[in-house]
Amino acid sequence: MNPLILDGKSLAKRIEQELAQRTQALLAHAPGRIPILATILVGNDPASATYVKMKGNACRRIGMDSRSIELPEHTTTAELKAVINELNSDPDVHGILLQHPVPHQIDERHCFDSIALEKDVDGVTCLGFGRMSMGSDAYGSATPAGIMTMLKHYEIPLKGKHAVVLGRSPILGKPMSAMLLNEDCTVTICHSRTVNLQEHIRMADILVAAVGKPAFVQKDWIREGSIIIDAGYHPGGIGDVHSDAYPLSSAFTPVPGGVGPMTISTLMSQTLTAAEKALGIIL
Ligand code: NAP
Repeated sequence: MNPLILDGKSLAKRIEQELAQRTQALLAHAPGRIPILATILVGNDPASATYVKMKGNACRRIGMDSRSIELPEHTTTAELKAVINELNSDPDVHGILLQHPVPHQIDERHCFDSIALEKDVDGVTCLGFGRMSMGSDAYGSATPAGIMTMLKHYEIPLKGKHAVVLGRSPILGKPMSAMLLNEDCTVTICHSRTVNLQEHIRMADILVAAVGKPAFVQKDWIREGSIIIDAGYHPGGIGDVHSDAYPLSSAFTPVPGGVGPMTISTLMSQTLTAAEKALGIIL
């Protein structure tokens, strides 16, 4: 049987339409109070600049706004923290996105953790991660939260399933593992020191590949009928899983058009929720 394509592009489009309606409702309740996402880009990385631009464009498609802050390559931790503090106390700003990665002289973790919890719409703070892991209210890290939205939309059974997460980064692998665990998956987390990696991957009912290496996971590592979530994105539309492996799965996310659009729609959704909370529309 042909595998099901988990089409993130059309799902994200649908979500954006709902968000546009919600934004109109917010503006009817609070005229002039347009939800604003502040994006901070430090340095000159062209890929990061493209991601930030895409997020600003998504805001405008929905009827929200973005405030773009660009800082030079030589910015210090203290300077970046001062910018974040200013945005934290600005009532017109509802969400803050600090684009990862920042130049090496900056303590990225410290700066992420300076973002106020109620504006941490990209789910990057330790506090947000801890609360999400414990099942308390917090915005999830945007990429794994978008993956969860997609799994739920396509009614992929999770309870009792063996999920293998390849990667343990703070923005992807770790929060992904916690989210799957919270949905009663049995979770194996693999990383660069994992022994017998292929054997672990072969055990997966659900594989989430977030390894950051193009076409890394090979066809013969995949168990037939498993579900492949490919979070990777590399030039030329290549994911972290070799595309030869997709036909073996029962469902897979295409690259591009799978996980990527879900990340952006999740960020938009969480920014709008933050604005609704700030304006007292939802508690
Ligand atoms: P990352 O920070 O580089 O983390 C990669 C993870 O893979 C690390 O945990 C690393 O292990 C592990 N790893 C590296 N080599 C390995 C190997 N040979 N065997 C097993 N594990 C290995 O990457 P990331 O930021 O999580 O991103 C992962 C992928 O997702 C990338 O392709 C990125 O482009 C993509 N991504 C997509 C979106 C989106 O919106 N679609 C958003 C973010 C990221 P150690 O911890 O041991 O080093």
